[in-house]
Amino acid sequence: MQIVVAQDILKANDQIAQRNLERLDAAGVYCINVLGSPGAGKTTLLEALAPHLSGQLRFAVIEGDPATTRDADRIEALGVPNVQINTGGGCHLDANMVVSALDNLKLESLDLLFIENVGNLICPSGYRLGERLRAVILSVAEGDDKVAKYPPMFQRVDALVVNKLDLLPYLEYDLGKVKSDVKRVAPDVHMMTLSAKTGEGVANLADWIVGKRQEYLHVRGS
Ligand code: MG
Ligand code: ZN
Repeated sequence: MQIVVAQDILKANDQIAQRNLERLDAAGVYCINVLGSPGAGKTTLLEALAPHLSGQLRFAVIEGDPATTRDADRIEALGVPNVQINTGGGCHLDANMVVSALDNLKLESLDLLFIENVGNLICPSGYRLGERLRAVILSVAEGDDKVAKYPPMFQRVDALVVNKLDLLPYLEYDLGKVKSDVKRVAPDVHMMTLSAKTGEGVANLADWIVGKRQEYLHVRGS
């Protein structure tokens, strides 16, 4: 019997992720890995960001899903270049899946790439894909205990976007409790609140992303 240790799989994944990163760097493409539960509003947020980003940055989206092209269809409808990865039921994207998705994008004509991961708060955060930034989307409809319950996810991301603020009046959701959990569990995370549906706070996020890409270009030296 052969036993493949999870550590070895992750190490192999990291090597491929590093090659993806180098390939994206060579083309000057800043890549953001978008994580979060099913229904957190990842695709809706990308739709809401699109009008704020277009005209400033040329961007594309890689959509990861266990089945269907529904999310990619929504991105296609915006006229944004996109590639669908169907994981065949798999619960996360890995770096190897992203290799062939990158083959299908014109990287030289892009500034920014979003990779929408499979909806899941556990394993996707263990797999680097080639991203420079990781953002987790958390909707208030999921309850205010998620940061406390799934610490590794929040410790492995750069940004936390709390979505569906428009639903707050209908829920028992303690945003203060979430903020103190973040402070305790993942103090370095940049936290933002917004509603992709009403658009409240979306421009702020777009500005933040544009600023992050500027920083990246400086560090990269171009
Ligand atoms: Mg989606
Ligand atoms: Zn998984």
